Amino acid sequence: MFFIELIHNTALLVALTAIYQITLSRNKKNQLTHTLLFGVLFGIAGVIGMMTPVQYGNGVIFDGRSIILFVVGMFGGPISAMISAVIIGGFRVWLGGAGMYVGVTVITVATLIGVAYYYYRKSVGGSLKALPLLGAGLLVHGIMLLLFLCLPDGIGLQVDKELGPTIMLFYPVATMLVCLLFQDYEEKEVSRGELHRLAYYDSLTGLPNRSLQIDCLNQSLSQCKSGDCKGALILLNLDRFKTLNDARGHAVGDMLLCLVADRLKPLIEAEGVLARMSADEFAVLIKNNTSHPLDIDAAAHQLADKIQIALKFPIQLGEDEISASSSIGIATFPINTEDKAGDVFRRADTAMHRAKQNGGNQSIMFEQSMASVAEQRFKIERELRMAIPAGELMLYLQSQVNAAGMVVGAEALVRWQHPERGLVPPSLFIPVAEETDLIVDVDVWVLTQTCRILAGQDVYSLPLRISVNISPRHFRQRGFVASIKKILADTGADPTHLTLEVTEGLVIDNISEVISKMTELTLLGIHFSLDDFGTGYSSLSHLKRLPIHELKIDKTFVQDAPTDPDDAALVESVLAIAKHMKLNVVAEGVETQEQAEFLNARAEVIHQGYLYSKPEPSTSWIKNLIKP
Ligand code: C2E
Ligand code: MG
Ligand code: MG
Repeated sequence: MFFIELIHNTALLVALTAIYQITLSRNKKNQLTHTLLFGVLFGIAGVIGMMTPVQYGNGVIFDGRSIILFVVGMFGGPISAMISAVIIGGFRVWLGGAGMYVGVTVITVATLIGVAYYYYRKSVGGSLKALPLLGAGLLVHGIMLLLFLCLPDGIGLQVDKELGPTIMLFYPVATMLVCLLFQDYEEKEVSRGELHRLAYYDSLTGLPNRSLQIDCLNQSLSQCKSGDCKGALILLNLDRFKTLNDARGHAVGDMLLCLVADRLKPLIEAEGVLARMSADEFAVLIKNNTSHPLDIDAAAHQLADKIQIALKFPIQLGEDEISASSSIGIATFPINTEDKAGDVFRRADTAMHRAKQNGGNQSIMFEQSMASVAEQRFKIERELRMAIPAGELMLYLQSQVNAAGMVVGAEALVRWQHPERGLVPPSLFIPVAEETDLIVDVDVWVLTQTCRILAGQDVYSLPLRISVNISPRHFRQRGFVASIKKILADTGADPTHLTLEVTEGLVIDNISEVISKMTELTLLGIHFSLDDFGTGYSSLSHLKRLPIHELKIDKTFVQDAPTDPDDAALVESVLAIAKHMKLNVVAEGVETQEQAEFLNARAEVIHQGYLYSKPEPSTSWIKNLIKP
C-alpha cells in the first residue's frame, strides 16, 4: 500500500518537473508572473498529492508535500514558497483531523528549509551537489519524523517505527533527485539564454544584432502585407568613423560606438528597434506601421532628424570632445507583395550610400531611380573582383615632360579591358573599388606592373620616374610599407625611380603615422607626390610636415588658368608654395600651348597632358620612348 502511494507521489514529482520546465521557459521576461505561477502550480500539485495520501488512522495522512514545499522554496524563493505553503496549508487545515497541527508544522518547516536553501544556493552562486541536497532531504524528513511524535495517542511513535525507515530511505533521495533534475534544467535554460544573446545581440553595445533586426523586419513585413499598411527602416552609418578608428585605434572606435548606442537607445526606444548591423552601421525599424505612406515617410524623417541632432551634441572620447554625424538611408516597405527583408535593407543601404556620397550628415529616402545606379555599382564590384585574376586590367602610361619637351617620367594609369563593355575608364570603377579593399588589389597590381617595367632592361637605366596612384584606403593599411618593399624586392625595381601619388585626404588621418610610413619609404629613395593639389582642404601647416617631393596641380585649375583670374591666382600660389617648400611641380591636364606657356612663364614645371601625349598602353609607351 505504502509503495503504491510512493509511486503516486513519484508520478506527482515528475509532473512537477514538467510544470517547472513550462513556467521557466514561458515566463522568462516577466519575473513576477513566473514567481506567482510557480507558487500557485506547486500549491495545486501539493493539494492533488494530499488527495491521494497514505492514510494512517483518523486524520493522520502523509504524502509528498514536504518534498514539494522544500523544492518550491529552494527554486522559487520566499514568495513562491509562501503561496504554495498557504494553498497546501489551507487545504490541510480544511481537511482537519488529529494530524492537522503537525501537518501544518511540517508544511512550515519544509518551506522554511527550502527558502534557506534558496539563499544558500544564491550565496554559493551556482548549483548544489548531490550530497548537500541529500542532506536537505534528510533534515526535512528527520524533523518531520520528530514532529510525528507530537501526534496524539502515541500514533507518531507507531508511524515512525513502521514507516520511518522507508520514509528516510526514499523521501530524502526523492528530494535530492527532483532538485538535481530542476537544477539540470535550469542550467540548460541559462545556457540556452547566454547562446540566445550571442546569436541575437551585439556583444559590444548590447543592442540587438543584424539577425534579430532581420527577424523583426520579417515580422513587420508580414504584418504590413496582411494589414495593408506601411513600415520603414532607417539605416545609419557614422561619418568618418574609419578615420577615427585608424587614427586613434580600435579601443577609441569601440568607445564611440558604445556611446552612440547609449545615446540613441533611449531616444529611439519608444518609436523603433535600434540594432547594430556591422562596424559603424546601425538600423532602426520603426515600431508603428501606418496605413498612409505619407505618414510613414514623415515619421521616418522625423526620427532620422532626431538622430542627427542627438549625435551633434558633444561626445566625450577620453580627453577629447567630438561631435558625430551620420549618413542615413531610409526605405519604406512593402513596395510589393514579394518584398523581402533583404530587399528593404538593400534599398536603405542604397539611399545611405547616396547620403554618404553627398558629403554625409544627411538623411535620404530611397527612390527607385537609385536602384539602377546601385545595381550597376554592385555589378562592377562583382566583375572587377574577377577581372584582376582574369588578366583584364591593363597598364597605361602617360608621359610627363619638362619645359624643353623631354620625357622625364610618366604616370601609371589603370584601364579595364572588359570582355563585353570594352575599355572601361578608371572613373567608372576606381570609386567603386575604393569603397572596398578591392582598391588595394588594383593598386598592388598597378604597382607590380610598374615595378616590372622599371626593372626591365629598356627602362632600368633611363633617368626617369614613374608615378603610381595610391588610394588612401591602401595607404592606411597596416602592412602598407611592407607590401611596397616586397613588391620592390620581388621585381628588382630601383625605388629611386618610383613616385607614389597620394591625395590630401590622407592628412586628415593620424598625421604622425602618415609621416612615419612616408619617411620609411622615402629613405629607400621613393618620392611622394601630392595629387589633385588644391581640390582638398588640408591646412598648409599639416602639409608642411609631410615628407613630400612634389605637388600635382589639378587639371581643373590648369585648364582655366590662362582665362580665369581665380584659377590663375590659385596656380600662382601653388607655384609660390612649391618654391618656398622646395618641391617639384607637375601640372596635370595641359592641353593647349597657351596653358603650357602660362606655366613656363612662371616657374619650372613638369607638364602632363594631351598636348604632349595621352595615356597609352605601357608597351607602346616604352616603344616610343626608346625608339631612336
Ligand atoms: P589622376 O591621378 O589625377 O590622373 C590624372 C587623370 O587626368 C587621368 O585620368 C589622365 O588620363 C587625365 N588626364 C591627363 N592629361 C589630361 C588632359 O590633358 N586632359 C584631360 N581632360 N585629362 C587628362 P584617368 O586615367 O581617367 O584617371 C582618373 C583618376 O583615376 C586618376 O586621377 C586617379 O585618381 C584614378 N586612377 C587611375 N589609375 C589609378 C590607379 O592605378 N590606382 C588608383 N588608386 N587610382 C587610379
Ligand atoms: Mg594621379
Ligand atoms: Mg591628379
